[in-house]
Amino acid sequence: LFARDVDFMRSAVSLETLPPPDLPEVCFAGRSNVGKSSLINALTNRKGLARASNTPGRTRELNYFNVDGRLFIVDLPGFGYARASKTDIARWQQLTKAYLRGRPGLRRIFLLIDSRHGIKAPDIEVMDMLDETAVIYQLVLTKTDKLKKGELSKVAEKTQSFIAKRPAAFPFIVHTSSEKKEGLDVLRAEIASLALP
Ligand code: GDP
Repeated sequence: LFARDVDFMRSAVSLETLPPPDLPEVCFAGRSNVGKSSLINALTNRKGLARASNTPGRTRELNYFNVDGRLFIVDLPGFGYARASKTDIARWQQLTKAYLRGRPGLRRIFLLIDSRHGIKAPDIEVMDMLDETAVIYQLVLTKTDKLKKGELSKVAEKTQSFIAKRPAAFPFIVHTSSEKKEGLDVLRAEIASLALP
């Protein structure tokens, strides 16, 4: 799937400007700095495709990528900024909720969790939102190269038992390192299984 064309389509700041829901889509979400743009670039083998969301102007955009005409990848704005204002948070929640409810083609959310930190309060807030809207989400641990094997298996175990109690969580967690290119094929296979044939 990813060996073929992957094109940046557009940035949308409101639901009216999203592309027509002609394809299945998967969405990447995570706290700022979790490694989301690195992971999208590593998955698609394109260096500058997804850009880090740390600049203020980028915090409100949904970015759409068309993968070989078979699937959209959607890059949600990062959340959980230390310096986010109440208005920023409210705006993020409003856009995200509307997005979750308004996209019939949405197949799965990949919720990225920094393996060094594990699940934090802002992640739980997002999981609450996803459970409420009944959108299936799959957790992806990022930056696993930063941990020793023993540390990683501890975090993985804790994360696994946490999601066991979440209604809309997909039971299988993916471990990735964009830096070491690990776990990418597993994630690509998950995504390919949701794309048009
Ligand atoms: P975003 O804000 O979620 O898009 O995060 P970025 O992709 O910009 O990554 C944030 C920081 O983490 C950057 O300094 C990256 O170089 C670093 N990073 C991202 N992925 C990895 C990884 O797999 N391993 C390591 N060691 N660092 C990573």
